[in-house]
Amino acid sequence: MISVNRALEIIQESSTPLMVSELIPVDESMNRVLSETILAPVSMPPFRQSAMDGYALHLHNGDTYKVIGEVQAGDHQMPFLKAGEAVRIFTGGLVPDTADAIVIQEKVSVIGSEIKLEANPQKGSHLREVGEQLLAGSESLAEGTRLTPAGIALLKSMGITKVKVNKPPRVSVMVTGNELMEAGQPLQKGKIYESNSTMMVSALHQKNISVTKILKVKDTLEDTETAMRELMKDSDVIFISGGVSVGDYDFVGKACMELGITQHFYRVKQKPGKPLLYGRGNGTYIMGLPGNPASTLTCLYIYGFALLDILIGAEQTGLTRIELPVSEDIVNPYGRALFLKAKTNGKWVTPLKLQQSSAILSMAIANALIYIPEDVTQLEKGAQATCILLP
Ligand code: AMP
Ligand code: MG
Repeated sequence: MISVNRALEIIQESSTPLMVSELIPVDESMNRVLSETILAPVSMPPFRQSAMDGYALHLHNGDTYKVIGEVQAGDHQMPFLKAGEAVRIFTGGLVPDTADAIVIQEKVSVIGSEIKLEANPQKGSHLREVGEQLLAGSESLAEGTRLTPAGIALLKSMGITKVKVNKPPRVSVMVTGNELMEAGQPLQKGKIYESNSTMMVSALHQKNISVTKILKVKDTLEDTETAMRELMKDSDVIFISGGVSVGDYDFVGKACMELGITQHFYRVKQKPGKPLLYGRGNGTYIMGLPGNPASTLTCLYIYGFALLDILIGAEQTGLTRIELPVSEDIVNPYGRALFLKAKTNGKWVTPLKLQQSSAILSMAIANALIYIPEDVTQLEKGAQATCILLP
């Protein structure tokens, strides 16, 4: 059995970005990862702009200025100002070359066609110089950046309409279990409704990945192997739910052997999700997630998302982690790392009742996981803990 950190390291060491890019409209690029560094095609701002509503001044020693015109945002005229002259100007307006500073309208008394200032402003005040944010030709966003609404706005404000982004990996999902039934029919004795496939597909959506294929198989070696072989043909990653434990009817490990999949690790010193399996065969990454729903999702978030981030070529991998005090004592007598289903308000983090790996109820109301390393046996109320924010 290996540690959580070693498992994450092995994922890092054994995977490389897929490096397949595509050109897509900026408008559809939310959450996508840039496969090129974007050099600014224009300066930002592209012309000297007023940052406020007020008056653009050609400074002189006096406190009175003659107003000789007006520039609204979007206007292109450029009145010539002599020393002691001003133009009325508005936020975003083109500042005449002959103006030195903007005075805000609140600091001005208007007397006919003249203005009187409380004091002369500093040269350059409330002026946005050309290229203040970015000069044309300089680097705006680096390869590997995940595009956010602001990132998209930046691209659009530079006039860019299409960007090269990394193609998402082709991901498929497989669920195993004789006990599984589709919701929508009366529940039969001994059966449960299958829910992991929808959960995994939904989690992968959070990562902007549309699952290409979903297969549901019975607990036989033949079915497991046949389905895996089919998925391996056109998947970069297969996430499998269940069938990875040591029961007589857990066939994922055996099927991996039959299919010549190199096992990078099996079993991690953690709770939940001990029987996690990770390997690679024929260019396809295989992650066998334990079938208990809270284990499945925890492992998908912690290990699956880390793998996907690498394949996508993202700058940062995995979920956001912050340090927060725990709101009650926590004990860890298991000698394994814990991922506790938890709720945080941003100031504290509280472990929820029902920590079993089958407990989808607590997972459903959790917005965080508390990570307790394997060598930490107890945490007192108020102690800092790593809080992993759920997406
Ligand atoms: P396994 O990892 O196959 O031993 O499954 C562990 C537990 O998770 C069992 O109680 C299963 O019934 C449950 N389980 C497995 N797969 C699913 C699934 N797709 N949806 C809901 N529960 C599941
Ligand atoms: Mg099973």
